[in-house]
Amino acid sequence: MNTPDPKITVPKPQFSFRDAYFDAIAKAQAEHAAKEVDASGRLRGGTVGCLLPSGQTVGTCPKSAIARYLGYSFAKDTRSLLFFENGFANEATWATQLDKLYIPWIRDEKCQLSYPLNHLDTELMVTGSPDQVAHPGAALMTGAEHKAICSEGTAVSAQLKGQPKDEHLIQAAHYSAALGSPYHIVYSNLAVHNAYFFTKKEYPEAFKGMKKPVIPPAITEFPLDIEDGLVHYWVGDERRETIVTVGGILDYYRMIIEAVTNKDLTFFERGNFDIHNKQYPFLLDNYCDTCKVAPSNDWDEWNEQLHTHIVANGGISGGEIYEST
Ligand code: SF4
Repeated sequence: MNTPDPKITVPKPQFSFRDAYFDAIAKAQAEHAAKEVDASGRLRGGTVGCLLPSGQTVGTCPKSAIARYLGYSFAKDTRSLLFFENGFANEATWATQLDKLYIPWIRDEKCQLSYPLNHLDTELMVTGSPDQVAHPGAALMTGAEHKAICSEGTAVSAQLKGQPKDEHLIQAAHYSAALGSPYHIVYSNLAVHNAYFFTKKEYPEAFKGMKKPVIPPAITEFPLDIEDGLVHYWVGDERRETIVTVGGILDYYRMIIEAVTNKDLTFFERGNFDIHNKQYPFLLDNYCDTCKVAPSNDWDEWNEQLHTHIVANGGISGGEIYEST
């Protein structure tokens, strides 16, 4: 590198990093879309819930899980794409961190889980891949779901409330049970989040002495354990029991098999409560648009509505498998 010429002329860039970034995302999206089509007809480890003895579910809405099983995938806008990229980047960061300590790990293609599940004379494969398994095959083997904190809501849940999100806990418990291995949910917050007024009001201790209430960067790890099929997680030395069971997770998948076998969207109910059976003070449905675009509970009509909306908006439609079920 030379000492800069004080009179130097430098042209405006012809190359855009931003454009390259979005081109790369588009390429990854196309590859992902191809994989999604291949994966229709499988029950996904990442789209999971728990069926409770009451007949209600906690975790991923069954309708969303059925849509994913059938191969429907909504088109993602720029914001969602960037949000997902943040998640991938977080997983890559964790790979780099363990490498610095020469800790062996596997993930993605090297860490695929797959097992058969039978119900109503139908056998389907449940597939998934844990985000990272450290010390694979050794006594220290431990899995992790890595979640990047990108919003105040998740930061509050992990760092102030000390509770993993429902879907994250159920997904981690499922992988832990399938691997027969200890497991963590690890939340990485690498940003400073401004706290809303009502957050400050609800957790005054967390903001004592702060001129401006913020939730600071932090890595928050929730270790899990499973006892006789019942899932617990730990906050420091405190062991918290949940309503999630391994049997309930398998029953959830069986329920999906039953729904697609009978073409019936009506025999399950998504509960509006969390992993501690605590009612949410808001409606979970308000945070999902699926029923806005496909409100029908009639199987054929619902498929038609989903198909039409997704095709019109550039997503991936599961028409093929829909026709074959
Ligand atoms: S709107 Fe509610 S019931 Fe409909 S798919 Fe979304 S979460 Fe499920």
